[in-house]
Amino acid sequence: MVSGVLVVTGPSGVGKGTLIENLRQRVPELELSVSATTRKPRPGETHGVDYWFLPDEEFDRRVADGEFVEHAAYSGRRYGTLRSELTERVERGVPVVLEIELQGARQVRATMPEALQIFIAPPSFEALRTRLVGRGDPETLQHLDARLQTAREELAAQDEFAEVVVNDRLEDAVVRLEEIMRGAMR
Ligand code: ADP
Ligand code: 5GP
Repeated sequence: MVSGVLVVTGPSGVGKGTLIENLRQRVPELELSVSATTRKPRPGETHGVDYWFLPDEEFDRRVADGEFVEHAAYSGRRYGTLRSELTERVERGVPVVLEIELQGARQVRATMPEALQIFIAPPSFEALRTRLVGRGDPETLQHLDARLQTAREELAAQDEFAEVVVNDRLEDAVVRLEEIMRGAMR
């Protein structure tokens, strides 16, 4: 059995969501923290499953009320982890995974140093671009240059992380993630 908080970070399009989905098939007790965001749902995304989609004013109110463990602006939108996604699970010993960008991961590192943090890196910058384009949602394509610039900055920060997993072959990366997790979250 594993328990505790796992933070998976890395540039948009590197495969964090895909890796976590695969990891959760191998570690069924691992629950996903559903983030809040002010961006619009993509086709197929569901409120309360993929994100809590909130209007800006409600996001602000929740920030002011101290409801977030961490929050950040990304590509002109806001994203954050609600305390309510973690507290009860941690108390019950249920392991929980956060999929968040770099600024949020840094905040969690400062406030929850006991959380395991893993940075996901692409095999190359070109591979990252191909994956981002390949995912093909309009908002990503519209802001592609901005997302790629942010990705460059995020990649430059990978040395801050004790654990870096290169997502080249998906299966290898999932196996490595599980190995690190089972080693650290006992
Ligand atoms: P993120 O959550 O980091 O933004 P996604 O999980 O949405 O990234 O993955 C971005 C795209 O890359 C998706 O189309 C996904 O299918 C693809 N992808 C993920 N992992 C790999 C991999 N190891 N090799 C090739 N493509 C991948
Ligand atoms: P997307 O719009 O592609 O779903 O997500 C954009 C970026 O926001 C991704 O890098 C994703 O990991 C990050 N993100 C998603 N949820 C959160 C969150 O709760 N907090 C922070 N800081 N980043 C998040």
